[in-house]
Amino acid sequence: MPAKKASKTKTPAKAKAPVRTKKKTEPNNGGTTGGATAAGNIQVRMYRVGFGDCFLLTLPTADGPRYILVDCGVHSKGNINVGGTSLIGEAVDNIAEVTGKKLAIVIATHPHQDHISGFGSFAKQFGEFSIDEVWMPWTEDPNDPKAKSLHDKRTALLSKLQAHFAALGVSDDSGPAAAVANMAGNAPAFAALHSGFGVGAKVQYFEAGDVVKEPSGIKGLSVSILGPPTDQSFLSQMNPPADDHYLRLSGGDQDDLSQVKPFVGEQWSFQTADPALGWPELPQDYKDQLKERANSSAEDLAFALDQCVNNCSIVALFSYQGKNLLFPGDAQYGNWKSWLGSDESGTLLSSVSFYKVAHHGSVNATPKEALEKMPDAKFAAMMSTQNKPWPSIPAPGLLPALDRKTGKQWIRSDAIAIAGAPSAPKGTAIPPVFHQGAFWFDYVLG
Ligand SMILES: [Zn+2]
Repeated sequence: MPAKKASKTKTPAKAKAPVRTKKKTEPNNGGTTGGATAAGNIQVRMYRVGFGDCFLLTLPTADGPRYILVDCGVHSKGNINVGGTSLIGEAVDNIAEVTGKKLAIVIATHPHQDHISGFGSFAKQFGEFSIDEVWMPWTEDPNDPKAKSLHDKRTALLSKLQAHFAALGVSDDSGPAAAVANMAGNAPAFAALHSGFGVGAKVQYFEAGDVVKEPSGIKGLSVSILGPPTDQSFLSQMNPPADDHYLRLSGGDQDDLSQVKPFVGEQWSFQTADPALGWPELPQDYKDQLKERANSSAEDLAFALDQCVNNCSIVALFSYQGKNLLFPGDAQYGNWKSWLGSDESGTLLSSVSFYKVAHHGSVNATPKEALEKMPDAKFAAMMSTQNKPWPSIPAPGLLPALDRKTGKQWIRSDAIAIAGAPSAPKGTAIPPVFHQGAFWFDYVLG
């Protein structure tokens, strides 16, 4: 895989006042707050935030531990409050305490509320950290015309879907409306991320094929970016058809919203060929795919758009001290497919020591082909999940496959029981390799 990004020298972190020593009240069941268990070892901490992702990676170095935060978000319909405080807020406090408010890298894998909301809600707190680098997928690069084009079309479609569901009185708790809600309200998070949290963090955008050597000056760390891709076939799938064809009123009666249809069948035309961007006419199979989408319901369209956003996920393989940790964000099949066929994918996947289960364990986020290439009983997996707002997550079929492939060395975040919050089925085992804290699980790579 070509090394497109040169090694980066560490950006001098802004000098900040010493870490606040405040210790917030936390649900107490005996967990450690610090990175003590990680002394000398790589550690992954998965926070129980509700429906969302918040993972803290600790890397031991000669100069002490360095920290990488991968996502910090929760879905508004899958949030967990304990005594009036959201667990994601508790997680941010814990991150401050563990890291001494020093993060080498903050990664926002993709623009979904359940991965980035915390960066907006707690922008002030993150503004008290020293943060060397902020990573986002190329699809969020404001200076990339293709990214901007995708963005504009997506935003237009999103607002139409929102209006559609609102007009029909569809509850935000319903599946498709919850998918739409997940894409909305992310401006504060992006303002914080794009500004490098106002602390001089270097903001960078990555695409499949990038290899980042020693980011933030962490000697020996190499990060291979496996997604999101930039090729035309991927873009074609990601590029919604011209938005003026969406949700058009079928009968021309602007007041009768029961008649809202996502498309007017035969009038819908393919407009993905865009000479301004140098995109040629699409191959027939993509046209067919788009046409199928065009003929679907608004509900299907909401899920299709949701999936497009998931597929923008940064897929990062961290290689450090002989271990390989795979963090695929919420990559769904389109993203995985872009690199699974390569000669290198077998080598990469067979060397995985840790797998962050993609997209909360949904049905099409961990392709069988990918999981089967991972080494039998030689890696552990963590899944941040719960069955609210989507009862189909995690997908039942994936769980025995994870049992088999990891040798039962995997854990789901909702195995931490919290009163009033959805939990894993009774009797869900917590394998001894995972250390349970107040509202998180730690995995130390031996
Ligand atoms: Zn997610």
